[in-house]
Formats: sequence, structure tokens, C-alpha cells
Amino acid sequence: MALVTITGYPSSGKSRRALQLKTHLESRLQDPNYAGPKLKVQIISDDELNLDRNVYSDSRSEKPARGALFTAMQRQMSQDTILIIDSLNYIKGFRYQMYCAARELKLRVCTIFVVTTQDLAREWNETRQDSKVYPSETFENLVQRYEEPSSMVRWDSPLFTVPWLDEDIPADDIWKAVTEGNIKPPNAGT
Ligand code: ADP
Repeated sequence: MALVTITGYPSSGKSRRALQLKTHLESRLQDPNYAGPKLKVQIISDDELNLDRNVYSDSRSEKPARGALFTAMQRQMSQDTILIIDSLNYIKGFRYQMYCAARELKLRVCTIFVVTTQDLAREWNETRQDSKVYPSETFENLVQRYEEPSSMVRWDSPLFTVPWLDEDIPADDIWKAVTEGNIKPPNAGT
């Protein structure tokens, strides 16, 4: 049905936004006024694939990790799923590859750019209380190599930019993008 690609600096809040989006989409799908096809919402993340943040420290381990993510994505893409890819997705060419795979199956696509300053992401990385801390050198390296998405290229479009200060994501617009507006929105006509 749809592929939602989340991208942003390491520790910029991508997983937090992925969960917010999943909650929003599920509540719309469960709304009694929802008249579209039965869909499920799934998140694929590094954690779900047991990819340690250390894999990004070395291109020899990063490449197979990206391969594992791509394989999992291909396996789970389908007409009855809204698939959210919660990972760095920082390489332009990789986002292009995901876009092509999704379009081959005629899925809707959109990209969510989770925006923070480098300083904030660094601070959140250093103070996070879970096992998902990027080693400092890896963090700096990833930030330097980060390739920002652009609404000017078709594989990043439509692009939703979510600044760190925003409490929530633009759920209505994302819902429209993934359902193409051909599904009656919840509460329509009431
Ligand atoms: P990522 O998936 O990009 O690694 P997470 O969503 O796991 O990022 O968040 C990284 C850390 O930053 C977590 O400790 C989280 O609580 C914190 N964090 C994320 N977004 C915000 C925000 N908007 N304001 C304050 N802290 C945040």
C-alpha cells in the first residue's frame, strides 16, 4: 500500500516520530468512519533487525546492515501494509533504491525528514538512557556524511519536514499522501 521513509541525523528522534505516526495511522484506520481497505501499519527498524549502532562504525559492517534492512523492507512491502522504515536512511542512492522497489509494486511513497541541529542530536545521543547510543566518532562521521532529502527529487517526494520543536507530526497530510486521498477520511461528512 505505502512506504514511509524516515530520515534524520543519528539520535534525532526518528524512532519517536515513527511511533507517533504509527499511532496516528492506526487510529484513523480504526475509526468507524474509515471506509477504505483493511490495512496494517508496520515499522521496520535497526532494533527490530537486531542491528547494533556499532554497525555504522565501519563500511564493511554497514553495507550488509543496509542490505538486511532492504531485504526486510522488500519482504514486508505489500498492498495491505503501510510500512514505516525507521532508520538513518541518510544515503541518497539508498533512498532512491527503496523508492524504486516501492514503485515497482505501485506503492504510495513519502519521506519524513526529522530535523534537529547537530548539537541537539549530539546531546541526545550522549544522554540517552538506552542501548542505542552511537559511538562518538561514528556519530560525527554520520553527521558529516548525511545527505539531506529534497522535495525537488521524486524519490524523496512528497517530503514532510518535522522540526524538533514540533510536538507532533503533520499526520493529516501524511495520511493523505499514503492513502492518496481516495479513501474517505475519518469524520468526513459529520
Ligand atoms: P533516533 O531514532 O533518531 O535514534 P530516538 O527517537 O530514539 O532517535 O531519540 C533519541 C533520544 O533523543 C531519546 O533519548 C529521546 O528521548 C530523545 N528525543 C527525541 N526527540 C526529542 C525531542 N523532540 N525533544 C527532546 N528529546 C528528544
